Amino acid sequence: MSTALVTGGSRGIGRAICVAFARAGYDVAFCYSKDEAGAGETCRCIEAAGAGALPFLCDVTDEQKVGELFCSVPGLTVLVNNAGIAHYGLIQDTALEDWERVFAVNVRAAFLCTRAAIPKFLKRGEGCVVNISSIWGETGGSCEAAYSSSKAALIGFTKAAAKELAPSKIRVNCIAAGMIETEMNARFTAKERAAFVKGIPLGREGTPEEVAAAVLFLVNQPYMTGEVLRINGGALI
Ligand code: NDP
Repeated sequence: MSTALVTGGSRGIGRAICVAFARAGYDVAFCYSKDEAGAGETCRCIEAAGAGALPFLCDVTDEQKVGELFCSVPGLTVLVNNAGIAHYGLIQDTALEDWERVFAVNVRAAFLCTRAAIPKFLKRGEGCVVNISSIWGETGGSCEAAYSSSKAALIGFTKAAAKELAPSKIRVNCIAAGMIETEMNARFTAKERAAFVKGIPLGREGTPEEVAAAVLFLVNQPYMTGEVLRINGGALI
């Protein structure tokens, strides 16, 4: 049995990744911290694709809960560190607790989950981690200093972990996604979104399903590790 564990699977990109793994023949475990209704819908989607669904209410910043989560997942072969939060605001208006919460969800959780997955991967003799970073982790986004810094840290973590774990046949890669149609961007007005889309050569936002396909691509490429795969409609050409 092969199980993929996706953090933050109750909606958006995480749900699309869960469904993609279900269609690819994996059983799918996922966690979320609040969104019960969304988690129920993700379970329905996974089961409709013919796979087993294992939902967990787990705040991925909580070391103890993460330990319990990984003890409950059988047959782990893939971990996707997808859970993430955004924070918008000028640097001088950003409270320290907001900065630290963004880093806790976007970086500490990826460390905690990867650390918990490694013994399971070592036991199987293989494993694969995909971290979901952002175009802002590469270029920096104005009024998104905490988010951009956290996503840059995730790219650094990906590269260090890839080097350290390659001899153990554990691959670690990263997606740097551009603007994707999810609730995370719901705070932007139609005008703001249109202005952003103007800078995208392909002329539209991406979909969660397109990001999920990129995740599956990385998982299925046995000779790729430490990569940062851009999926952004050509925004950085
Ligand atoms: P959403 O806000 O739609 O979904 C976020 C998911 O993460 C939800 O399932 C949420 O569930 C979960 N989550 C948040 N905090 C925690 C936590 N502490 N513990 C467990 N789960 C948590 O975001 P997206 O789908 O848009 O984003 C997914 C990832 O993709 C994020 O890492 C984001 O930074 C990244 N990304 C998104 C882009 C975009 O344009 N949308 C672009 C580039 C990257 P719950 O609320 O139940 O906790």
